[in-house]
Amino acid sequence: MENHLRTLLDEIKSGQRMSKDDAWELFQVRDRQVWEIAAAADEMREQRVGNAVTYVRNQNINVTNLCVNACGFCGFSKKPGDDGIYYHDKSEIQKKASLAKMREVSEICTVSGLHPDFTTRSYCDIYRWIHEVAPGVHLHASNPMEVAYAARKSHMSTLEVLTAMKAAGLGSMCGTAAEILVDAVRKKICAQKVSTDEWVRIIREAHALGIPTTATIMYGHCECDEDRVNHLAILREIQDATHGFTEFVPLSFIHMNTPLFHAGMARAGATGREDLLMVAVARLFLDNFKNIQVSWVKEGIKMAQLSLIAGANDLGGTMFEESISKGAGAVNTDYLDPTEMQRIAEDIGRTLKRRTTLYEIV
Ligand code: SF4
Repeated sequence: MENHLRTLLDEIKSGQRMSKDDAWELFQVRDRQVWEIAAAADEMREQRVGNAVTYVRNQNINVTNLCVNACGFCGFSKKPGDDGIYYHDKSEIQKKASLAKMREVSEICTVSGLHPDFTTRSYCDIYRWIHEVAPGVHLHASNPMEVAYAARKSHMSTLEVLTAMKAAGLGSMCGTAAEILVDAVRKKICAQKVSTDEWVRIIREAHALGIPTTATIMYGHCECDEDRVNHLAILREIQDATHGFTEFVPLSFIHMNTPLFHAGMARAGATGREDLLMVAVARLFLDNFKNIQVSWVKEGIKMAQLSLIAGANDLGGTMFEESISKGAGAVNTDYLDPTEMQRIAEDIGRTLKRRTTLYEIV
């Protein structure tokens, strides 16, 4: 196995595209060879994007936690009648956006629950309200689920919704709601969400309209390695066709407050080995992605640092205000200061650089 693994890693480093079987094989590794895979991915990262560790100064605005869906992995959403429901109206959203502007963020992210009364107009209004008080800020918002929901509620096509959102100021779309792009898994964890085919179609439509998106995976619940590989293969195929993904963001499942975990239908999240391998295998397999982001919110700051020497090159955002992972039980969710990011980067011999949403260095 040792020689076989080295040969495989050498072939990949010399530019050979990995097969799905190769990726599956790498996910199986359990011993010190994990470090060899991480080292190969780190070399690939250096070749592809150099030695900077990038970050964006951003702020979340989660407009509401009221949601018509009930995804099993979600500890954030509330149903009518629950305690702790919130909905931010125009004046609250503009207050938060003005605060974001004062904090000199270059990106505002809005993703929310699927409010029973929301339509395409609601999403577009939110974007316009934000732009009114924070002109020039890049709006990274919505995801294929919100687009499909808005389309259904407004009797429009998803292409029409995306066109309206772009006209209202959407700069790029979140590639969340992907979870695992395998319908058998989606049935277990998020039966009411868009199907794999719908997710892919909406992402392709966004890219065709010139709306870039991120790409994500949520792993560590009830999926198997084959599911992870199939998911990565779908992302690579889309990227070959559109080049519209700005980065890949692995999202490690936060299990504590989720119905899925409490019902015994999910494990208690990914292990450290799995977290490192997800980053490293993604770097090696997704040969058409420049940027692999590590989520310090999901993984914690120490694991995020290790991921930066296993193939990742980006630390994501400063994240003023985060409530989705916090709802699921994550602890490192509120704001990571760039001075701490700098300490993490310099400790592994790299330089921290601030970027825009679309990865221009500022
Ligand atoms: S993950 Fe999103 S769509 Fe699913 S229940 Fe939570 S807020 Fe609603």
